[in-house]
Amino acid sequence: MKLRTKLKIAFFIMAALPVILGAIAITFIVRHELGQIRKTYGADFRLSDMYSSGSLLGKITDTTFEKVGEIADDSPERFSDMDYLTELEKEVSGKLSYLVVRQESAVYYNSSPYTIAELDKILPANETVSNLDGGAVYKGGSYQTIIKITPFTDQGKDGSVFLITPLRQTLPQFKRIAIQVVLIIIEVIAFTSFILYLWLNRSIIKPIDRLRLGTQNIRDGNLDFEIRQDKKDELGDLCRDFEEMRYRLNKSENEKKKSDAEEKELIRNISHDLKTPLTAIKGYVEGLRDGIADTPEKQQRYILTIANKVEDMDRLIDELTLFSRLDTNRIPYDFVKINVKDYFDDCVDEIQLDLESMDIILKYNFRGGDDMYTMADPNQLKRVINNIVSNSVKYRRADVKCTISIEVFDEGDYIHIVMSDNGKGINMKDLPRIFDRFYRTDESRTSPQTGSGIGLAIVKKIIDDHKGRIWVDSVEGEGTTFHINLLRYKEGMQLTLPDNQVKSKRKRKQIKNKGGDVHEQGSDSRG
Ligand code: ADP
Repeated sequence: MKLRTKLKIAFFIMAALPVILGAIAITFIVRHELGQIRKTYGADFRLSDMYSSGSLLGKITDTTFEKVGEIADDSPERFSDMDYLTELEKEVSGKLSYLVVRQESAVYYNSSPYTIAELDKILPANETVSNLDGGAVYKGGSYQTIIKITPFTDQGKDGSVFLITPLRQTLPQFKRIAIQVVLIIIEVIAFTSFILYLWLNRSIIKPIDRLRLGTQNIRDGNLDFEIRQDKKDELGDLCRDFEEMRYRLNKSENEKKKSDAEEKELIRNISHDLKTPLTAIKGYVEGLRDGIADTPEKQQRYILTIANKVEDMDRLIDELTLFSRLDTNRIPYDFVKINVKDYFDDCVDEIQLDLESMDIILKYNFRGGDDMYTMADPNQLKRVINNIVSNSVKYRRADVKCTISIEVFDEGDYIHIVMSDNGKGINMKDLPRIFDRFYRTDESRTSPQTGSGIGLAIVKKIIDDHKGRIWVDSVEGEGTTFHINLLRYKEGMQLTLPDNQVKSKRKRKQIKNKGGDVHEQGSDSRG
């Protein structure tokens, strides 16, 4: 739910809930107290009587009034009995009223605070008022009372029983109701506020706290935390955006750390790899300078060795430059449709000569049709094959005749290239990392063979850019097998590459492969 809606609901609840709960509670209290009033005073009170203290107080002595009326009819002599009158007074005072009894204008029983003189003013003058409406009179002015009159005749003398109820007073139940209503309102407001607080706390304060903690963490350089938020409101969105930002920052921070570490490793490797041939060159130069190479043959050998070492260094620097350019996508690809059989036949022809000169056996098996095509940059693909083959040569075993095999399979949508050797193999623990930049196994680091650890990183980058896949199997001490899957050519197929990696139309020259197909991959190759 949106925060805006939540706030609207919160304000509505804040306004409506106390009213609803208050009304329910007050109705309950009033009904309950009305029951209590009925029970206490015995009169037939209605809910509407609650709104007027006059009508309540007017009805309060109804039952006593009826009783007194019955006694006046049946046994008026009881009004001469003081014990009875005391008992009656008790009942009347329980109903917040006073009892006054008069006979022949002489008041002989008075429980009211009024003096006889005052009573003379309040009470009707003679005992013949029984025909007054309902037997009651209202005395206004400073008295504000209701007087219920019951006339009686005892021993031939007329008398009256007065039930006097002052109107300037409140039923104790009313006070109780007032206190309870105030308490209920306070409780309802407190309860509503608490519920709202909990709700808003959960949906606003907590996410804000989380965000604040997050910003503090980021300020302190800690990016390894997570801000979870499932709510689908504005703050939820903000938390998710914040988490995304943290994730990206963390990722780029980790990448930076990784690349810093790789850079350091690269510098270490380059220093080491350059230092080794340089030390040798220095030794041979000193040998020449100090006349240790004292025969023309020796001198010739020294110079040849120096030339080889310089060649090694040159190759290393070339590899580094190439990788850096590939890595930053500065090497443009020239994708063309190539006939796989013709391409591999040519490649193998080229490599074969070199390998033969090193007494290495090359086995080649093409297990596909003549009409198998793929989209590739022929030069970069050659680099892949050369790098893998040169590794097989580099890491060959001294105890067995080195055999390298290249096989190409038709696998429907893919062309599967398998290149294996019977060399030293790669330890299981190194296998997952050999395509990493600058990764060299401990074995190769300590071997006399120079290497930069980027040959296979270059291979992987090229295959990835061809939308292919490369993986490796190896058994240490037995040999290594590289597998490459390339996409088989399909009509309209294009390889998508960043802008700067596809040669511009102006610069490119059409490459014609042996099958005679010419394929132009222009800037429209971008997806
Ligand atoms: P390097 O310049 O060290 O050869 P690469 O990236 O080409 O770097 O290879 C990475 C590591 O993989 C090498 O150092 C080597 O230990 C191992 N490796 C690659 N190819 C083979 C292979 N055919 N036989 C054994 N080990 C290999």
